[in-house]
Amino acid sequence: MTIEELGWTPALAATFAEYEAKGCLPGRVIAQRGMLVVATERGDVLATSSGRMRHDAESAGELPAVGDWVAIQVPPGGTQGRIQAVLPRKSVFARKAAGRRTEDQVVAANVDVIFLLCGLDNDFNLRRVERYLAASWESGAQPVLLLNKADLCDEPEARLAEVEAIAFGAPVHLLSAKQGEGVDAITPYLAPGVTVALLGSSGVGKSTLINRLLGQDAQRTLEVREGDDRGRHTTTHREIFFAPSGALVIDTPGMREIQLWDAEDGTGTAFSDIEELALSCAFGDCAHESEPDCAVREAVERGELSAERLEGWRKLRKEAASLLTRTDALARRKDKGKIKAVEKSLRELYKRKY
Ligand code: GDP
Ligand code: ZN
Repeated sequence: MTIEELGWTPALAATFAEYEAKGCLPGRVIAQRGMLVVATERGDVLATSSGRMRHDAESAGELPAVGDWVAIQVPPGGTQGRIQAVLPRKSVFARKAAGRRTEDQVVAANVDVIFLLCGLDNDFNLRRVERYLAASWESGAQPVLLLNKADLCDEPEARLAEVEAIAFGAPVHLLSAKQGEGVDAITPYLAPGVTVALLGSSGVGKSTLINRLLGQDAQRTLEVREGDDRGRHTTTHREIFFAPSGALVIDTPGMREIQLWDAEDGTGTAFSDIEELALSCAFGDCAHESEPDCAVREAVERGELSAERLEGWRKLRKEAASLLTRTDALARRKDKGKIKAVEKSLRELYKRKY
């Protein structure tokens, strides 16, 4: 397997030059559960982060995660490597660990295209689609909306139009992963070297679609040689799969459980109509509640903006605010800009409450 087949790009090669000079190989993390496995041109190697990297990392989010490109040192003929650096990420899906200390946990890095699945069964919910869209934009990946279970829906075209109206240019496709209808329309996204991940609620059809994209005989486990001399073998679950088309598909438990925690930065994109109207509000930090001269509420009154959409915006803000109260002191030091956004959301929340 060549690194181009793993998704290597000229931009990555430019950032890698300094590590190449230090004798490192480029590699991509293809498993992180239990152990790190890195695919390189010399084969798959078991990997650990260098002590220096672990020491210097300010949060768990800076350590290698599945999908990451790394600079790794592998002794000649060796089967184990030491990761010296994580190359800059193009996109990141992160999850906040529960508990008092907020530690980013990166569940997938360098995803190019995110297939965002929505079920056209009883579970269909436009507001949830908006939140997932916001999370996708915030990650840096390109969202593609897949309206699955079209076979169970009486008016799939009407749902398609509704979703297109809130998708802000993201492509939307009708699909039946189970029957296979509509799958041909998404194959162009699965180009060689492109990394795809699936996002959506449980039961929406992610496994069904993955099986269809990868084929039944997709290799689920990875075998890695553990020692240099004795050649013992260890197995772990693969978390990046190769589709027959040459695309890479990330499927990790973390990605499946991803919460909508971090959507704060994405709200502006998913609700750009509201953000644009808000520019004309009398107050710069208008919560569009009871403030005078609120352009957003006026637009609702004139029927130019739906009341549900404004409600969706409020819910998303609220979710983000409740997450952000958990942000610990470490994160505060690290990301002042984000904290400002937090404080703003909290002020808005406070205003609405009292
Ligand atoms: P996941 O939790 O997102 O991985 O969802 P699954 O792939 O396990 O699918 C959940 C259920 O929905 C299963 O019973 C699937 O057979 C069913 N399902 C998935 N896609 C479709 C579809 O396009 N149409 C119908 N009718 N059922 C589907
Ligand atoms: Zn306003």
